[in-house]
Amino acid sequence: MKVFLLMGPPGAGKGTQARKLVEKYHWTHIATGDLLREEIRLGTSRGQAVQALVESGKLVPDELMIELVESRLTDGGTYLLDGFPRTLGQAQALEELLTRKGAQLTGVLFLEVPEAELIQRLLRRSHAEGRADDTPHTIQTRLQEYRAKTAPLLSYYEERGILYRVPGLGDVEEIGNQIAKIVETLLSSP
Ligand code: AMP
Repeated sequence: MKVFLLMGPPGAGKGTQARKLVEKYHWTHIATGDLLREEIRLGTSRGQAVQALVESGKLVPDELMIELVESRLTDGGTYLLDGFPRTLGQAQALEELLTRKGAQLTGVLFLEVPEAELIQRLLRRSHAEGRADDTPHTIQTRLQEYRAKTAPLLSYYEERGILYRVPGLGDVEEIGNQIAKIVETLLSSP
C-alpha cells in the first residue's frame, strides 16, 4: 500500500493537480472536501451534521474526518489523499492507521502559493463554480483555519523527511510535470 498526500492552502490547485495525478497513475483519489459536499448534496445524516461548518469555511471535527477516510483506505493499491489531514490530530490518526496496516506515507506533496494569489483565485472560482464556501468572508475563515491548524503540518512532515514543496504558481502543466518528477522518484525508490 502506498499513500501520497497532496497538501496546500485553499485555492492552491490541489483539486486540479489531484485529477491529473489520478488520471496518469490510476490511483484511488480520496478528496475529503468532495466527499463532504456529496454527503451534503445527498442530505445524509453526516451531510446534515457538517453542512453549516463546511459552508462557513470552518474545519469539520477530527473524529468525523478520520472515520470518513478510514472507511475508504482499504488495503492494497495506491492512494492520493487530497485535503486530508488538515490538523495535527488527523495527521497523528493517519500515521497510527497506516502503522496498523503495516504501511507508511510515501510522500507529502505541498503546493506553495502566496496568499494574495490564493484570494484572487478563490474569488474567481466563486464566480465560475458557485461553491457555497467561496464568498469573500468565508475565504478569510478558510485561510485562518489553514494558518492556525493546517500550516503546522508542514514542519511535522518536514521533520519526518517526507515533505516535497512544489511552487504552485504558473503553468498548470509545468506544475504537474514537477509533481510527476517527484512522484516517479518516490515510486522507484524501494
Ligand atoms: P476542500 O474542498 O478540500 O477545500 O474542503 C472544503 C471544506 O470541507 C473545508 O473548508 C472544510 O470545511 C471541510 N473539510 C475538508 N477536508 C477536511 C479535513 N480534512 N478536516 C476538516 N474539514 C475538512
